[in-house]
Amino acid sequence: MGLVKTIIIKLIFFLKIYNLFHFLARYQITILYLHGIQTDKPSTWQPLREQTTLTELSNTLTSLSSQYTFISLNKAIQILKKEIPPIKNALVITLDDGYLNNITLGAALFKKFTITPTIFVATEHTSCNKPFWFDRLDYALQQITQPEFTVKLQNKPFTFNCQNRALLKETYQQFRTKIKREFTNDEVMRSYLDKLCHKIETTTGKRLTDIISHEENACLASWQQLKEAQQNNNFEIGSHTVNHARLALSTKETIEFELVKAKDTIEKKLNIPCSNFCYPDNSYNNESLEQVKKYYSTALTTDVGLNKIGDNLLRLKRFNIPTAHISEKVLFKISALRQFISQ
Ligand SMILES: [Zn+2]
Repeated sequence: MGLVKTIIIKLIFFLKIYNLFHFLARYQITILYLHGIQTDKPSTWQPLREQTTLTELSNTLTSLSSQYTFISLNKAIQILKKEIPPIKNALVITLDDGYLNNITLGAALFKKFTITPTIFVATEHTSCNKPFWFDRLDYALQQITQPEFTVKLQNKPFTFNCQNRALLKETYQQFRTKIKREFTNDEVMRSYLDKLCHKIETTTGKRLTDIISHEENACLASWQQLKEAQQNNNFEIGSHTVNHARLALSTKETIEFELVKAKDTIEKKLNIPCSNFCYPDNSYNNESLEQVKKYYSTALTTDVGLNKIGDNLLRLKRFNIPTAHISEKVLFKISALRQFISQ
């Protein structure tokens, strides 16, 4: 199937069908997102969640540079607001969550391609180098030496299979899907996860918090490092709430706090205006969107698609960074042609 797919994609390019759709969509803006960047050599802790390696990122950016012009998010917004003329085949790179490796590993690569990325930070995590629950739990689970570990989830037992990495990865994924279904309030879920991580950490005696400052897959950029990235490498900084809160599952008061405090902290710590927002976990609804509108001029989702003038600036669409061994596959994954086919 892989070979057939490769031949079809190669044909699409050979027959210039890709080019036709790329041309027709030339004034639409593509926005990509990624999270952590990791080196190709094994780390002390290998997250269960898929990571983008530096080599993959480099290959992808090389492929993209043949078809796109990299622009900053702020420039893209000016285009979408019709404040400046459009740029053909414009593409924006965004980085979610504020990992330090975005700067230590990514900055040189972004500079090479004259990319001005936007990094979205959750301010409490940035301020305290506090691991996100998904990293903390991932690390904690990998320290378990027993074959199984059973926890209580809404009074029902849930068993993590710790026999090997593949099985743990599978049960961790099931657990994440389950908790997102079980909890209707984000704060209640985060409090539950905090207690759960604490329980596992007490059992194993190992905590990500203790090693985060030198754990390159989890360490978060400090305000000082963000300031330097902004001044020396043209990074733009946006808001990703205070606590990586899922807005659609938060109360009105919590949303207000998460939006205002994050904006205020970024503006004070970095001495820059902060008007771009990114929804953690792509969680938003009409009410939270109305609240976002009070403090930010734009907000980014992970809803898939291209962006054009006239689109709602509080629901900008993005693609996950495409990676593949073949350049045509990278380009096809985010292409206007693929969008057309999937509609
Ligand atoms: Zn996030």
